[in-house]
Amino acid sequence: MIKTKNQTNQTITLAIINQKGGVGKSTTSVNLGAALGEQGKKTLVVDLDPQGNSTSGFGIEKVAEMRSVYDGLMDGVSANDLILPTEEKNVDIIPATISLANAEPDLAAAISRETRLKKLFEPLKGAYDYILIDCPPSLGLLTINSLVAADELIVPIQSEFYALEGLSKLIETMKLVKQLLNPSLEIQGVLLTMYDSRTSLARQVADEVREFFKEKVYKTVIPRSVKLAEAPSFGESILLYSPRSTGAETYRSLAKEVIKRG
Ligand code: ATP
Ligand code: MG
Repeated sequence: MIKTKNQTNQTITLAIINQKGGVGKSTTSVNLGAALGEQGKKTLVVDLDPQGNSTSGFGIEKVAEMRSVYDGLMDGVSANDLILPTEEKNVDIIPATISLANAEPDLAAAISRETRLKKLFEPLKGAYDYILIDCPPSLGLLTINSLVAADELIVPIQSEFYALEGLSKLIETMKLVKQLLNPSLEIQGVLLTMYDSRTSLARQVADEVREFFKEKVYKTVIPRSVKLAEAPSFGESILLYSPRSTGAETYRSLAKEVIKRG
């Protein structure tokens, strides 16, 4: 099957990825997901991080007996049996629970260990406009699975010191996966997050990131905002928690850019 972008009834799978911790991957998964949903795009968020931050960000309580993406990767449970609805318009989720922490060691010994997520998504093609994968902060097998399953990557970068550190390793890994397992993989965009316009450091980092990634950097920059940090504790996206806030407006504007690019 030939993959072309911008085609209707086609699912675009985006991995939200950066092995650096705390850069805004989960915040972006939840709020970009909600904003895409608000704009009429049917969206599935897949929580691929054992921390389960996007699962709780959508207000889903993680109980031990709940099925999670682990059951899809390791026990052959079909994606349709893992999907839960969220309170957000047009947004579903495949949740993560702590059981996903076993995925790295269990996958290591498994057959087709890099392609299991891709396989899990197969029956979903066409059912969603977007699948967003919230990646864990590592370059382990879960992240490799997301690189194999994704059409494109969104790389959030925190507008702070050491922002670019580790990115060469991510790009190297991406190139390897592209070469061996997923030839059409591309970076859709680089997203500046937690931007504080009052500091010259943030501006300096943003300039550096733009110099390096050029037009790959989204025009939308996510500001540092208390409301964005608060929303998950209410189990809501920023669009439900504070619909008129700057944080909500910037994630809406990011969704528009993402739709335009992909
Ligand atoms: P991890 O690597 O641990 O999965 P992550 O990359 O998913 O982290 P988040 O969990 O989205 O990062 O964000 C890290 C912390 O920063 C969280 O407490 C989150 O609420 C907060 N945060 C994220 N984005 C913003 C923002 N724009 N303004 C203020 N706080 C933010
Ligand atoms: Mg996270």
